[in-house]
Amino acid sequence: MLALNDTLERIPRVGAATLQKLSKLGIVTVRDMLLHVPFRYEDYSRIAPIRSLHEGESVSVVATVRRIATRRSFRSRVSVCEAIVADDTGTLTVVWFNQPYIERYISIGDRVVLSGTIERREKLHMVSPLYRVIIDDGGTHSGQIFPVYRATKDLTQKQLRYIAAYCVTAAHELEEMLPSGIVKKYDLMGYADAIATVHKPGDTVMLARARRRLAFEELFLIQTKSHLAKRELSAVSAPRINCQEDDMRAFISKLPFALTEDQQRTADEICSDMRKKIPMNRLLEGDVGSGKTIVAAIAMFVCARVQLQSVLLAPTELLAKQHFETLRTAYRGQSVRIALLTHSISASNTIAEISKKDVLRGIQDGSFEIIVGTHALIQERVVYHKIGLIVIDEQHRFGVAQRSALKEKNSDGLVPHFLSMTATPIPRSLALIVYGDLDISILKQMPRGRKGIITKVISERGRKKAYQFIDAQVRQGRQVFVICPLIDPSDVLGVTSVMEEFEILRQDVFPRYTIGLLHGKLKTKEKDDVMRSFRDGTIQILVSTSVVEVGIDVPNATVMMIEGAERFGLAQLHQFRGRVGRGEYQSYCLLLTRINDQEAIERLRMLERSSDGFSIAEHDLRHRGPGDVYGVQQSGMMGLTIASIHDTALISETKDAVEWYFSRHDIDDFTPLKSLLSEADPAIHFE
Ligand code: ADP
Ligand code: MG
Repeated sequence: MLALNDTLERIPRVGAATLQKLSKLGIVTVRDMLLHVPFRYEDYSRIAPIRSLHEGESVSVVATVRRIATRRSFRSRVSVCEAIVADDTGTLTVVWFNQPYIERYISIGDRVVLSGTIERREKLHMVSPLYRVIIDDGGTHSGQIFPVYRATKDLTQKQLRYIAAYCVTAAHELEEMLPSGIVKKYDLMGYADAIATVHKPGDTVMLARARRRLAFEELFLIQTKSHLAKRELSAVSAPRINCQEDDMRAFISKLPFALTEDQQRTADEICSDMRKKIPMNRLLEGDVGSGKTIVAAIAMFVCARVQLQSVLLAPTELLAKQHFETLRTAYRGQSVRIALLTHSISASNTIAEISKKDVLRGIQDGSFEIIVGTHALIQERVVYHKIGLIVIDEQHRFGVAQRSALKEKNSDGLVPHFLSMTATPIPRSLALIVYGDLDISILKQMPRGRKGIITKVISERGRKKAYQFIDAQVRQGRQVFVICPLIDPSDVLGVTSVMEEFEILRQDVFPRYTIGLLHGKLKTKEKDDVMRSFRDGTIQILVSTSVVEVGIDVPNATVMMIEGAERFGLAQLHQFRGRVGRGEYQSYCLLLTRINDQEAIERLRMLERSSDGFSIAEHDLRHRGPGDVYGVQQSGMMGLTIASIHDTALISETKDAVEWYFSRHDIDDFTPLKSLLSEADPAIHFE
């Protein structure tokens, strides 16, 4: 008998190689496998029996292969693969033209599902159908609904189904995650049953009930977190910052540009938040280039005026440095003292050469009003004089632990105001669920005079022309990003990996140019070095996975080429695109795709027409889940994998459930919920 914490090697026929592949998906124990919930299903319960088929019909049949052979016709040089398949009701002839490799995938005795059109030539045929071999599930699946798991190339659905079927026997050990009052009141399936059912669905009705239960739990947890975070914040005090309108206007009037209305409105919202005694907790969303930094600069300036410190946290050292330079320029002519502190850099706008020790001392005695850096600023033992405001760039939700760490840093116990900034376009509907505890400001307008980025969806046939175009741009002195979806060539068939692309460009396509390579497996220092060389212009073409930073400013880069574009969410593609078009030159975004799927190509075309991140995300969310819009990792971190943001009924039901529960109970009343919620909130970095 398997137990939840057993490792999977206890399952017969699961060897070291398979265990290794499973661990790539984060699956080590029986519990891990059970929590690896299928993301969709194949429903073979609506399959036509062969005897009922008639000409012209488009159908699916499930049958066993009796015979299969490929021959080549002499005259036309066309290869024809012909198979005879049978189910309980009859036999059917199937032909594929010019697909000589079919025999490699289908053998006599296989059970296959075939989907295609029935034609008549002498007798009924199915012509060039889509095909898939049905995995022998060893009789573990009684029904006709098959789970489909997130897998890797060399870990098949067959293996995952086999392993999951074993693990389901331990599902009853899973502890209920929701309070019994909630389970009863909302008529939910029990947790253990729900998990068992999603892996081994009996019928569609049970499956729907199981998925509803898991979606309910997801939404309930997210909203509970928000509810508690809000409650916690309303119980503490923040320093009241009396923002002087005149000071602020004077500062703004000295900027080299006029603020957009959105920037002005947001700055006002922030100032009125900071006048209050409860800590501000605001999310500032705005497309790349919409000018978020200057809004933060205004807020930090206001703090400095009342002798309170502001801390600006960036996800990387390079971005911290960039922010430092931006602020140095923005505060020129003002008496604001800024420090930059990361693991390897220390700098200030008032002292040319300054040691780390002196920066630390200046932070402690309050001579620096604005401190820019990475997370080192809260992790290391930095002592502050008095923090009024924390600004977090592209790091999203700030962990509860980090927040209390910062509270400790103020000797008077006052909790600083918080401002998070992000370029990920999260429509209000989604933000209300995922960031229910935050107030939200959105910068929709772009500063005037921005050139639009010309975007084109390009098929494989257009690749050569795309390379010629890139060549011409580089010859004019411009730089180019090439984004690939994967690191290893082995990950998925038919998609170019970053390694392959790098080699191809370096050796065959652009041997004369300097090509850089960037991916998540590089060390931080190596990454920073590559980014720096690109920014300095020594690297002309940068081949990268999605790790390339959102906020990075390389005004000379004019082309963003994305390989396997269909594999990214539109919101993600839009973010990549934002990394060009930051300078005076016309910029371009080339979306390459090898697929022939008309629907997928149409979806990408939306980027040709629209440059508004929010309407792109909104449109895409209406048709697809957050996983497809933002990337699986991003949406997983939002806490949404099963629930849909368009299930407004379930959203409001769970919202009621949270309020109902916490008006009667305390979080301590129910241990599983408590432990689930106290799991470290990961600092979220949207790539
Ligand atoms: P992001 O929102 O992507 O962080 P930044 O704050 O980096 O954008 O701003 C992008 C660029 O636009 C910067 O060079 C900044 O100086 C400039 N900028 C910001 N606001 C305005 C404005 N209102 N008018 C003109 N340029 C602006
Ligand atoms: Mg930015």
